[in-house]
Amino acid sequence: MTTDTLTSESLIQIEDQYGAHNYHPLPVVLSKGEGVYVWDVEGKKYFDFLSAYSAVNQGHCHPRIIGALEKQARRLTLTSRAFYNDKLGEFEKFASELFGFDKLLPMNTGAEAVETALKIARRWGYEKKGIAENEAQIIVCKNNFHGRTTTIISFSNDPVARKNFGPYTNGFIKIEYDNIADLEDAIANNKNVVAFMAEPIQGEAGVYVPQEGYLAKAKQICEENNVLFIADEVQTGIARTGKLLATCGNCSCNVSCEKKPEVKPDILILGKAISGGVYPVSGVLANNDIMNVITPGSHGSTFGGNPLAAVVAIEALKVIQDEKLAENAARLGEIFRSELNAFIETCDLVKLVRGKGLLNAIVINDSEESDTAWNICLKLRDNGLLAKPTHGNIIRFAPPLVMTEDELMECIAIIKNTLSSF
Ligand SMILES: *Cc1c(COP(=O)(O)O)cnc(C)c1O
Repeated sequence: MTTDTLTSESLIQIEDQYGAHNYHPLPVVLSKGEGVYVWDVEGKKYFDFLSAYSAVNQGHCHPRIIGALEKQARRLTLTSRAFYNDKLGEFEKFASELFGFDKLLPMNTGAEAVETALKIARRWGYEKKGIAENEAQIIVCKNNFHGRTTTIISFSNDPVARKNFGPYTNGFIKIEYDNIADLEDAIANNKNVVAFMAEPIQGEAGVYVPQEGYLAKAKQICEENNVLFIADEVQTGIARTGKLLATCGNCSCNVSCEKKPEVKPDILILGKAISGGVYPVSGVLANNDIMNVITPGSHGSTFGGNPLAAVVAIEALKVIQDEKLAENAARLGEIFRSELNAFIETCDLVKLVRGKGLLNAIVINDSEESDTAWNICLKLRDNGLLAKPTHGNIIRFAPPLVMTEDELMECIAIIKNTLSSF
């Protein structure tokens, strides 16, 4: 059986029968992508307004990234870290300099990079901060999303992600996001806190943007208490929010500079768009005083740091710089929010629009349990634009950052027309 000639309907049926049901996809079967567009197996063309949860910031099948992949795939793909390879060092140097840290620890998926950051923070707590064995505590935020491993879901408060997956990993304290008093309380009189981990914008929770200055203040409190600030920028990083990192200062330049970082995390977690969605690449960045707690044998991954990943990631990051995608995301994001804000004045269906750069969401004026957002996404699909609800009544809009202003205006028209038809 070849699947090349099958219809969307039969392909969905095959997945339904033979695949585990760990997702509930929008019914559309894609077989081709280029830039901001994807095509289904029947040949219908769509604007991609999800970008694989912000992994495809550079656009689908970017020719430079695919070129790097092809060339390296013919030379060497995997050696394991039992031996050196001739590309990893170049990637480590490039990423360390670009993001302004001493060292990179490369992994593959976002969840693995989060796990890596947690392990580094705990070790640092025992070996540098002098915390008693097995007493380390890490503060996280309610409604966080950091991935799907058993430890990570242990500190999630999404019942769907947690139910019947216990026993859960200990050592985490949950506080309100965007609440400085809560952070102060959690740190005060608790000498066992080693780190505070947060998303600069809570993406999965529904693109929840914290108040201006929250991250800087949180980082300051951490510093005063010898607690590491861990930024999970797996979704917000790599130009998505109009800056190279969401924790960068208020400019849309394409390097993470020392001049005016809003917040300089002690540990930075990256994934998703670090490879332009071409190959699973993730990583953790930190300075030597922290990263040096990792010693041979204490952490690893067979695929982490492989030469194919290294060349793909370098090229994907260079595309972000060369095509000024942070600037483009900042500019188009302003247009998107101002157009939609003007529109919702006239439309009771949408409560509000929020976001930064090209990571935005609309909140539908209906209950969390209603299927209105899902039905809107089905209609958007029919009208040639793909987006997905996150948390019931919220629809995230995150197109590839290579979009032009004309294309964005076309998308805004599709979104307005679709919402008006409800
Ligand atoms: C997607 C995501 C992760 C997990 O990444 P995977 O590659 O799916 O494991 C972690 N943190 C944040 C903020 C994410 O958006």
